[in-house]
Amino acid sequence: MKHYIFIIFYIFLNLIIYAFQGSFWVYLFCFLMFSGVVIWGSFDITLRYFVNTVTQKRTKIKEVALTFDDGPTEFTPKFLDLLKENNIKATFFCIGQQIEKYPETFRRMIEEGHSIGNHTYSHSDNTGFLSISKMIEEIEKGDQTISEFGNVTTHLYRPPFGVTNPNIAKAINNTKKNSIGWNVRSFDTVTTDEKKILRRVTKGLKKGSIILLHDTSEKTYNVLVELLLFLEREKYSTFTVDSLIKLKK
Ligand SMILES: [Zn+2]
Repeated sequence: MKHYIFIIFYIFLNLIIYAFQGSFWVYLFCFLMFSGVVIWGSFDITLRYFVNTVTQKRTKIKEVALTFDDGPTEFTPKFLDLLKENNIKATFFCIGQQIEKYPETFRRMIEEGHSIGNHTYSHSDNTGFLSISKMIEEIEKGDQTISEFGNVTTHLYRPPFGVTNPNIAKAINNTKKNSIGWNVRSFDTVTTDEKKILRRVTKGLKKGSIILLHDTSEKTYNVLVELLLFLEREKYSTFTVDSLIKLKK
């Protein structure tokens, strides 16, 4: 599964080279196609191109995982209130620097039984371009913040922006993390229309889906209100991501 796209493209490109007997433009075209696939592989986590990432649960029952990235923030307490009212446990992938800003909210997530994952210390915009050692530092500093403020450890790691590449793959192995992706993306950070976000999530929902949301805005809170009603109506239960992984020793 992991490299199937690479293999298909490799065969496809060789066929083109064979068919056109190797003019310069054919080679250039092939090079650009190949680069395109590698870049696509870096950004689309569901392809699992570089890192063996968990993107869903294999299950026969109607259950999904709610995951929230980039918190804790000033909005997180509202999310926690809503989840508590509905007796739902979610998975929060926290940024170290945000934990330092909102330590009490972070502790509340843990006290209320939610799963915690590492989302790096600083969520650097350059995440895709960091060296292996810098990447390891980002993950380890995130771990330190989680244990210092929450007195817990986590084996879960979610790559910022869903970006994976060979350096990030090595850092994930080195820090013994399980890479956690998603197969339902809400685009709640870029879309302004709440109805559109909700529709995108509910349309793509399947048994075992892992849903990516962000506890960073009022807008996503409003979407979550509607989403929980939808899940109840459609008789979906929820699971937390830590229930999926075998611990790495
Ligand atoms: Zn993020």
